[in-house]
Amino acid sequence: MYRTCGVSYFPMKPMNHSDIFDLSNCTLCPRNCHADRLAGNTGFCRETAEIRGARAALLAWEEPCLTGTKGSGAVFFSGCNLGCVFCQNYCLASSQAGRPLSPERLADIFLSLESEGAANINLVTPAHFSPLLVPVLEEAKKRGLRIPVVYNTGSYEKAEAIRRLDGLIDIYLPDLKYVSDELAVRYSRAPRYFAFASAAIREMVRQCPEPCFSDGSHALDAPEGEETPLMLRGVIVRHLALPGQQNDSRAVLRYLHETYGDKIFISIMSQYTPMSQVQGDPLLSRRLTEEEYDALTDYAVELGIDNGFLQEGETASESFIPAFDGTGL
Ligand code: SF4
Repeated sequence: MYRTCGVSYFPMKPMNHSDIFDLSNCTLCPRNCHADRLAGNTGFCRETAEIRGARAALLAWEEPCLTGTKGSGAVFFSGCNLGCVFCQNYCLASSQAGRPLSPERLADIFLSLESEGAANINLVTPAHFSPLLVPVLEEAKKRGLRIPVVYNTGSYEKAEAIRRLDGLIDIYLPDLKYVSDELAVRYSRAPRYFAFASAAIREMVRQCPEPCFSDGSHALDAPEGEETPLMLRGVIVRHLALPGQQNDSRAVLRYLHETYGDKIFISIMSQYTPMSQVQGDPLLSRRLTEEEYDALTDYAVELGIDNGFLQEGETASESFIPAFDGTGL
């Protein structure tokens, strides 16, 4: 356990309607909205086929093997295909924040973050834009982008959409929020979340079957206090522990460990922050208690999870939510 505190315009190719990358009839994610996003319409994710973002900057709060000394190069996209009532980035997910980003500008941003010393390019909530990100990544790599690309997703995705990213993503950083369908519907309006997310994660692990680090190792075994090597390739699955949902959190950890063992890292997050939209909810209007988090991390140790990240300190604070004010765009 580790403790943490000049691209040109890309026209969409004509595609048949069974192609999930066809944004004129969007079936990219399990929502299957069939929105013509190319014509400026939107579906559940509230975004058209124009990429929009709200912040691009070095971020210090990711897992240490993603943060390095200067930070992860986080690009926050507008919109989201989940509907989490407790969303920590609500103004972003609800498309209230953000500005259009041309493919050229986005490739420039990736290269500029790399020149600032970013450990990686961290695409935050990119699922609903993934077909548009493919040519941008290809172009940025052609222009010299060398650092790993991280795909940081809520995981309400189709495995086929993840398959289309094969070769472009170095590190997958998916959430696994629930095993329980009832909770997924109640808290994220996401029917069959576990079925979709677990299949998407299986495809991520197929692409990145073994973690690799900058010191040439496949495990994080640097002694405490020494600089953590950077992850170059692999899968880190995050689970945000919610207050009062110990049983489901345990089911998430058990599933991940029994299915993947040491092929993946598991990050158990305690930073749940009750936002204004959940005031009045009997469970979600409070923070996770120290006892709840300790019990969950003890359970992870009992299961035999070695490749894990725990959070310590005052991470459960709104101050860790960056400002979505257009910085870096
Ligand atoms: S990506 Fe957006 S528009 Fe497309 S199916 Fe998902 S939620 Fe609907």
